[in-house]
Amino acid sequence: MLIDPFARAISYLRVSVTDRCDFRCVYCMSENMTFLPKKELLTLEELDRLCSTFIRLGVRKLRITGGEPLVRRDIMTFFKGMRRHLEAGDLDELTLTTNGSQLERFAQDLFDAGVRRVNVSLDTLDEDKFAEVTRWGRLPQVLRGIDAALQAGLKVKINTVALKGFNEDELFSLTEWAAAKGMDLTFIEVMPMGDIGNEDRIGQYWSLQDVRTQLATRYSLSDLPDRTGGPARYVGLQETGQRIGFITPLSHNFCESCNRVRVTCTGEIYTCLGQEGSSDLRAPLRASEGDAPLEDAIRAAIALKPKGHDFDYSRQDVEGRVSRHMSHTGG
Ligand code: SAM
Ligand code: SF4
Repeated sequence: MLIDPFARAISYLRVSVTDRCDFRCVYCMSENMTFLPKKELLTLEELDRLCSTFIRLGVRKLRITGGEPLVRRDIMTFFKGMRRHLEAGDLDELTLTTNGSQLERFAQDLFDAGVRRVNVSLDTLDEDKFAEVTRWGRLPQVLRGIDAALQAGLKVKINTVALKGFNEDELFSLTEWAAAKGMDLTFIEVMPMGDIGNEDRIGQYWSLQDVRTQLATRYSLSDLPDRTGGPARYVGLQETGQRIGFITPLSHNFCESCNRVRVTCTGEIYTCLGQEGSSDLRAPLRASEGDAPLEDAIRAAIALKPKGHDFDYSRQDVEGRVSRHMSHTGG
């Protein structure tokens, strides 16, 4: 087992498999992103070794993210490889977070690899607004992807970044749309990650407390005890039977129950999303064909996991912001 200095067991790994993406969401990337040279990335074989080592050390849940994980070349080979850990009973869940653009193509393959749930990020159901917020994305393609995922038997959860003055007016339409398709919906507070050009991040901030208050004007909300060890809190909507999540890293402190670590596509391990500190796993991975140096490096990194993060919007400037992009660490 991997236990950190604050007695938290690390059972959840998020791995970013690419920093690239076919969208340029305004809160995530600048329009002209420079991406890493391919040789910096872990190969698919290295990703397999890395994840398999974490699983051997006690990780039970693996989430693949990015960038956009489904634009990584041959990524299905990796997913198919991870299936063996599900079959062996060493892994409880294999899942991913995606923008949905490639789901029409890959939904069935993902299901066949043992994936049962996907998170799809979608901030608006308006085609023009979708093009505006993703800069490069096309809504119909994503909607077809979501339908393909449901058709393939995947459970879909929608992730929506709550953006002031952008999707406030779609709170009910998004909720009803998701309910009609049997999908849960989670709202995410915008976080101060990376240099994204001249977008006004503080202006984008829409408090989830307000989202909740507005939902309560139309639905009966009940707090659910569900905990994933992460920053999400859930309520049930009596009228739709849906679960609505709120991810509030800024206004709530969830760090004490944190069970997760993240690895970037270059093999850096971040033991806290909101802190700069990281350790390199690529060198130990490449140093030896055996996994002993990698195991040692993972244990050493977990021993440095900080107690919590320092995001804070309460001052004029965004305090505690971290310089890397979300697409680097993986959301
Ligand atoms: N490309 C995939 C996607 O969009 O789902 C996976 C990676 S993306 C970085 C993961 C999640 O992070 C998405 O739900 C996205 O909306 C969210 N995200 C990106 N930048 C964010 C920010 N600055 N604040 C809050 N959420 C952010
Ligand atoms: Fe790409 Fe996801 Fe970032 Fe949007 S949020 S730019 S889809 S990585």
